[in-house]
Amino acid sequence: MLYSDTGGGHRAAARALTFALMAQSNPCSTGMCDPLIGQGRPLVRRLTSLYPTIIKRARPAWAAIYHGSNSRPAFAALRASFGPQVRGVLLRTIAEADPDVVLSVHPLLNHVAWSAMQRSDRPRGLMTVVTDLVQLHRGWAFPPADVVVVPTEEAQRYVTRARVAARKVRLLGFPVDMRFRPPAPGEQAAMRKELGLDPERPTVVVMGGGEGSGRMSEQIGALARRDRPWQVIAVCGRNERLRRRLAARSFPTPVLVLGFVDTMPNLLRATDLVVTKAGPGAIAESLATGLPVILTGYLPGQETPNVDYVTQHGVGLYAPRAGQLLRAVQGLLSGDQAQLQEVSRRAREITRPQAALEIAGECLRLARSYMTAPTAGR
Ligand code: UDP
Repeated sequence: MLYSDTGGGHRAAARALTFALMAQSNPCSTGMCDPLIGQGRPLVRRLTSLYPTIIKRARPAWAAIYHGSNSRPAFAALRASFGPQVRGVLLRTIAEADPDVVLSVHPLLNHVAWSAMQRSDRPRGLMTVVTDLVQLHRGWAFPPADVVVVPTEEAQRYVTRARVAARKVRLLGFPVDMRFRPPAPGEQAAMRKELGLDPERPTVVVMGGGEGSGRMSEQIGALARRDRPWQVIAVCGRNERLRRRLAARSFPTPVLVLGFVDTMPNLLRATDLVVTKAGPGAIAESLATGLPVILTGYLPGQETPNVDYVTQHGVGLYAPRAGQLLRAVQGLLSGDQAQLQEVSRRAREITRPQAALEIAGECLRLARSYMTAPTAGR
């Protein structure tokens, strides 16, 4: 399973698929490989570790990198320069793990994985699972892949226009962890108690992806500076500075400040509303839990059209300014329950909660078609 630990979305998708593969009735071994920031050469690690700083402090620079690398010649140049740096890790991993399928959840890893697979000792399948919702970087559409899984019709149109054969494309949904689901009766209050929160108070989660980016400090201020009839969970992700700064402040409205959490499914089941940047992972997980989302911003490039995706499907609002955010939260939490239930119904309608399981099933079918005949010792 190829991913990169930049942000939180690729890692979350890779983990969701790993669990889904383990839940299949046929035994199958899996392994994770992060050839960029985890196992990459020092130069690759140094370059990819700039991602959090760029998205937090220089968003226009990210837009330039994203769009600048999204033309055919620029992407070819990018592949030519970074491919050889990454290929060694992939060759070693493939030789050691001897996989039947290489599954990639990252747009920069498909081409280089393919070239490493061509140099290995036997045929293997390549499966790409797209983890952006609407706007796709050209790295996602790799025609030689055996299977390309897409989360939405918009993504399906993009990859087929980009010459991936229609018979290879599967519209199966976004691979969220199977533990994301609406709370059972009484579960929401129990989850709040577990977190040390008031079980009766409406609860809002505020997050900014795996890196805790966006103007979270300002957003928490808008929601908690005065005494409000709700409580807030601030998930700062890997943004330790933000976590410390928020933890040192006191708010008239209760605020639970957390760093990087591994318990997002439980956290969302304690919640009525999610406030987030337009990351595909956070959006898909919120919808799978049946929660409305308020988007406070987006990373220019892949996240830009996610705002329209959420608002046009009637599952959330866009509130980029602190005042708008406050009004949006007030509106949703003071409205009647019927309004929230309607959003929840629509959210479940457009997500496919079983996506990870279906993708895992597809992966196993591909693996079987590439499996070598069993030999002694294998
Ligand atoms: N996430 C997490 N723990 C945290 C913060 C975020 O597990 O403390 C996960 C979150 O559940 C989601 C992902 O990180 O799966 C964020 O993905 P998204 O696409 O929203 O943004 P990215 O971080 O990739 O830019």
